[in-house]
Amino acid sequence: MRVLLVEDDPQLGDGLTVGLRQAGFAVDWVKDGLTADQVLTTETFDIIVLDLGLPRLDGMTVLERLRRRGQCLPTLILTARGSTSDKVAGLDSGADDYLVKPVDLDELAARIRALVRRAAGRAEPVLRYGNVTLDPASRRVTVDDADVELSPREFSVLHALLENTGRVMSRAQLESSIYGWRDEPDSNALEVYVHYLRKKLGADFIKTLRGVGYMIPK
Ligand code: CA
Repeated sequence: MRVLLVEDDPQLGDGLTVGLRQAGFAVDWVKDGLTADQVLTTETFDIIVLDLGLPRLDGMTVLERLRRRGQCLPTLILTARGSTSDKVAGLDSGADDYLVKPVDLDELAARIRALVRRAAGRAEPVLRYGNVTLDPASRRVTVDDADVELSPREFSVLHALLENTGRVMSRAQLESSIYGWRDEPDSNALEVYVHYLRKKLGADFIKTLRGVGYMIPK
């Protein structure tokens, strides 16, 4: 799951990036509103965590521009501005959730999962497909009710495919769900993760569409 974090406070931004990565998210961190506005037009994310007081372009303008472009990407405002009128303005400008700093990392991670789940039109937190289940909160995967050990990146690939069953995920989409900008994807890694997932979940579980990508059929 790929998160765009927009936060100008270096210490907080660093702490959130590390914490959210440990919680299993691919995090890209930008430090001003204009850069956020630009990357939102060119890159694909699952959710934005958006500060309001930002250099170059404030967070409310970033949000308004996003919605004016018709992008319905889930947006969670994370700000020091905690008055009721600030919250009302943020939510009425198109934010999906609003958290006031200081934030608890576990709560932030849970709210991110909830927003992404809702955006995918799912009520049930655990993803199920055939005899396989994946729980994004506990990061537990089972086959026929038995736990299966996955590496963090195998988990991320499986999670992205299960969130999009019936849709082909391109190589670039899958890579962006497992790597942030700071990690360079190594060229065969994705094939290796898919290979291990098939070994652990069944040879036919993930289909390869040659030259296009991978999918779990509906
Ligand atoms: Ca700020």
